Amino acid sequence: MTVLLQVDRLTKRYGAHHAAENLSFELEEHTSTALIGPNGAGKTTTLSMLAGLVSPSSGTLRLLEGSRQDLRPYIGFLPQYPKFFPWLSGLEFTEMTARLSGMEVRRARMEAQKTLEFVGLGDALNKKAGVFSGGMKQRLGLAQAIVHKPKLLLLDEPVSALDPVGRRQVMNLLKELQQETTILYSTHILNDAEEMTDQLLFLRKGLLVEQGSLSAVRDTYADPRIVIEFETANDMRRFAEEAPWQMAMSGCVATIDVMSQKADMSSVLSVLNRGSFSVLKVELQKASLEEIFMKVALAE
Ligand code: ATP
Repeated sequence: MTVLLQVDRLTKRYGAHHAAENLSFELEEHTSTALIGPNGAGKTTTLSMLAGLVSPSSGTLRLLEGSRQDLRPYIGFLPQYPKFFPWLSGLEFTEMTARLSGMEVRRARMEAQKTLEFVGLGDALNKKAGVFSGGMKQRLGLAQAIVHKPKLLLLDEPVSALDPVGRRQVMNLLKELQQETTILYSTHILNDAEEMTDQLLFLRKGLLVEQGSLSAVRDTYADPRIVIEFETANDMRRFAEEAPWQMAMSGCVATIDVMSQKADMSSVLSVLNRGSFSVLKVELQKASLEEIFMKVALAE
């Protein structure tokens, strides 16, 4: 794998406030990375620094392609709230942004048209952006970010404004784009990241507090427990007396923490079989993505 971007101790301060502090990470080519974090964690600040729109207070970022003087041909950026001239058509707007990246006139028109078709706006090429729906605007924002085939695509909450159908469609487009480019996108929603992420960067109060594949982060915060639902509270109490583990009991449900109790499913099942308890359900539960988000986001 070839590294496309190296970020080293990148920091942005606004007065005494650290919007991003000592961020270090790498992006490999043709991978997608999700920048996750609660409101105010520093996602937009980080993406804006990478896009060259905000200058870092300290630290370095190195795009291993192109020069730092003019990143426009190499980077595509979708802001959190993209703005368009309402009097320009989708085609005119996309063509204009292609020209800004340095593309010559005829190619800019051709690529703009192809890109709008790719993002599903083929029927609205000549419609004015002012009458686009929210979902269409998001697609137009994506079109202007990819029309010049950037090496690095930076997307600030690309799907948060979309309904579930639009969200799915845009995520599918991004998966296709990953064949040709490297994607870094921000989101609040770990479920989005689950669909398309090789690497997770978890920000909290400007700090990078977790970094790794989604499965590694999931394992770290899985908090596995075996949950047994008995037919009667009496069955549950008998089980608790016979079993070698401490457990939490509520109603007819016993919960055993796998890690602290060194419990596993097969030994739980064998205790259950020996005592002929009336059991309605036994399952291994792990923290949901939402629970993981809350744990990482709120940890101190
Ligand atoms: P959200 O999910 O709400 O979009 P975010 O993770 O993108 O949030 P940022 O917009 O990067 O967070 O903001 C990080 C912190 O930096 C916030 O506390 C914000 O108020 C502060 N901040 C951002 N831009 C500026 C600025 N220009 N001047 C002062 N403070 C700023």
